[in-house]
Amino acid sequence: MKFIDKLRLWLQNRYGFDELYLFLSFVCLIFILLSVIPSLRILGVFAVAGICYNTFRFLSKNIEARQKEREFYLKRRDTVKVNFNLLKKRIKDRKTYKYFKCGSCKAVLRVPRGRGKIEITCPKCKSKFIKRS
Ligand SMILES: [Zn+2]
Repeated sequence: MKFIDKLRLWLQNRYGFDELYLFLSFVCLIFILLSVIPSLRILGVFAVAGICYNTFRFLSKNIEARQKEREFYLKRRDTVKVNFNLLKKRIKDRKTYKYFKCGSCKAVLRVPRGRGKIEITCPKCKSKFIKRS
């Protein structure tokens, strides 16, 4: 049996790569690069820990647990993406719109600027509040 066949057999039923693996690899790379700076040397320890965890996940046979970790990561990533896109939109619209958070359901509402004191009705929960736009 050739080495490559033995390796293939050994890697069978292992979890392998996913989005979390790539993200952790990227973070570890950044940490390694930053650990060159003497005051940030501790980041090297975190990078090694991250690489160990990544290797553990890659070789793990507990597929179900690794998929749960992946789903947890993807949910957080999507939340960050949504918030980042909202921030980009708010910066772009800052001269024409004002943003408010609904007091009861926390929905973000966009209102045209320069209308004075206005009553805002939340489209989600229908609660009303007065703000200066
Ligand atoms: Zn609301």
